[in-house]
Amino acid sequence: MSECTHDCSTCGESCAERDPKSFLKPVNQYSTVKKVIAVVSGKGGVGKSMVTSLMALSMNRSGYKTAILDADVTGPSIPQMFGIHQKAEGTEQGILPAITKGGIELMSVNLLLKNEDDPVVWRGPIIAGTVEQFWTDVIWNDVDYMFVDMPPGTGDVPLTVFQSLPVDGILVVASPQELVGMIVGKAVKMAGLMNIPVLGIVENMAYFACPDCGKKHYIFGNSNVDAIAKKYDIANTAQIPLDPSLSALSDRGAIEDCQGEWLASLAEMIGKL
Ligand code: ADP
Repeated sequence: MSECTHDCSTCGESCAERDPKSFLKPVNQYSTVKKVIAVVSGKGGVGKSMVTSLMALSMNRSGYKTAILDADVTGPSIPQMFGIHQKAEGTEQGILPAITKGGIELMSVNLLLKNEDDPVVWRGPIIAGTVEQFWTDVIWNDVDYMFVDMPPGTGDVPLTVFQSLPVDGILVVASPQELVGMIVGKAVKMAGLMNIPVLGIVENMAYFACPDCGKKHYIFGNSNVDAIAKKYDIANTAQIPLDPSLSALSDRGAIEDCQGEWLASLAEMIGKL
């Protein structure tokens, strides 16, 4: 290792002194993004994209200018949930995000593929580079809150996002089964390594509410979310029920018609950041 100049921006060495934020990439010069919240999960299929969409929806309804950066490049589901099927357009200044019916700005690899169902068969660094470009090359127009739908796990792309984007906080999404395992702990510890606060845990598919009497049935066992939050010193939790109307709305591209208020307290907390 050469002698330390204490200027991480001109050095590629990995050392104890390196500030993870020294890898930060500048946002497009025509963009303004005030706060960036990453939505993470330990594995796929637990409802991370659902929570990203519902959080964005909640903030948008509260009057904040909201955006979603879909960093789940190999499994993008956000455009479908919002009924967005057009291609992204570009200008000399950068790429323009799609705008949902309710006014949420959105960028996803699906807006760049020739056919939506083309698979993304790219190596890790190319995928990570694409996500970085969603930050540096997209013109985000005056955004108060950007939610980043992260790929599941703690691999290459989450690492790139945490190092390249100025992430202000993380929301962890877990199913009831994951809350009894170590998966949440891994996500929380990764956030700790990056010096990014975990703002809350969302337990998705936490219970089923009987459509006739409203009684909550904890079909995967009693909820563990508060105990886990306490264990990792996380102040906020929320629960979303297993609700067939949610998957129906997202399959129809009409998630913006969802009236559920499950994430209202998280949205209020994030609005005070
Ligand atoms: P992930 O982003 O973690 O891979 P998704 O958000 O894409 O997961 O959700 C996976 C599937 O489960 C989707 O079909 C979605 O519509 C459905 N789903 C997610 N959350 C719920 C819920 N609370 N109730 C019913 N279906 C849900």
